[in-house]
Amino acid sequence: MDSLDGFAAGKLAELEARNLRRVLVDTVREDGVWVVRRGRRLMSFSCNDYLNLTRHPRVVAAAMAALQRYGVGSGASRLVTGNHPLFAELEARLARLKGTEAACVFSSGYQANTGIIPALAGSDDLVLVDELAHSCLWAGARMTGGTVLGFRHNDVGHAEELLAAQRGRHRHAVVATDGVFSMDGDLAPVPALSALARRHDAWLMTDDAHGIGVVGAGRGSSFVDGAKADVPLQMGTLSKAIGGHGGYLCASAPVIDLVRMRARTFVYSTGLPPAMVAAAIAALDIIEEEPGYAALPLQKARAFTRLAGLTEAESPIVPIVIGDVQATLDASRLIEEAGYLVAAIRPPTVPVGTARLRIAFTALHPDAAIGHLAEIVRTRIFGR
Ligand SMILES: *Cc1c(COP(=O)(O)O)cnc(C)c1O
Repeated sequence: MDSLDGFAAGKLAELEARNLRRVLVDTVREDGVWVVRRGRRLMSFSCNDYLNLTRHPRVVAAAMAALQRYGVGSGASRLVTGNHPLFAELEARLARLKGTEAACVFSSGYQANTGIIPALAGSDDLVLVDELAHSCLWAGARMTGGTVLGFRHNDVGHAEELLAAQRGRHRHAVVATDGVFSMDGDLAPVPALSALARRHDAWLMTDDAHGIGVVGAGRGSSFVDGAKADVPLQMGTLSKAIGGHGGYLCASAPVIDLVRMRARTFVYSTGLPPAMVAAAIAALDIIEEEPGYAALPLQKARAFTRLAGLTEAESPIVPIVIGDVQATLDASRLIEEAGYLVAAIRPPTVPVGTARLRIAFTALHPDAAIGHLAEIVRTRIFGR
């Protein structure tokens, strides 16, 4: 074996020994709720397609029409020839939804975060990140080459301490957090973080990958209590509740213009296929026209937490933290035997010692199945 293969095999064996080796499992999603895995039909509680828009007839029809008219790919970076007019339409719609002057669509949420932060901050700057924020916010923060510090999860006081100690030594400061935490389902204290950022002349950035479409009447985590929190950088993805693919930033016009010029993942990557852009516009139509539908995933999650005896859900994501990796895998298997897919989430996706089941609710999950799943969790996992 040469040194490269030897290195890879050694690393894999190490992960295997810690139960952390992950494999790809073929999964065919039949509709918003049902999937087929290893020849078995399972009801999935592990998809981020909260509004089941990946298969919604209006969204699919919009994508098909654009596909037929404009072809499969966009052909180049948006700054060269990849900027189909549908982008401007989608960006205007996102800006309107988020109450900002402008928006910029990226080819994925990951690319958005790793493009935006280094476009705005550099080696003289400070970036504070919630310790449980998504991996790509951390990646984007580190790509600035500046001082990157984590603050304790949702702890505004700790973020304040760090700013008080560090802000003066840096030119600019960014405070970055998930709006809705992807593996915990809780909300960031957005209004308090916004006020804190203002006091220290820091720029607040929220990642609303799991917020758009499902909290704040579909407008995301800046809109949760009816009022609009002042968040100058509202980022999110089109690949979860929006049902398709892509990422975005909503911000002021000058910030968006600068990001389009400076974000390397925007400048040096091919634009999204026009059909994906058309699909996202159709998805936003549905979210704006049917607020009752957009409210369903959170309602379903709350029904579940009530029935399972858990603290009330704040988003469609409900974590069942088990801790031990093997015990979490066993719990996931037990639930799969009952016909439900609830993936085990292990480190490094979550901190060591906090392996968990992550249950995600969608608009179309039947109430009876939610009741059954709650009973399994209550009796077979918690034993009460
Ligand atoms: C999924 C996710 C992303 C990445 O978005 P993609 O469009 O899938 O690349 C970013 N941030 C958070 C919080 C996420 O959950």
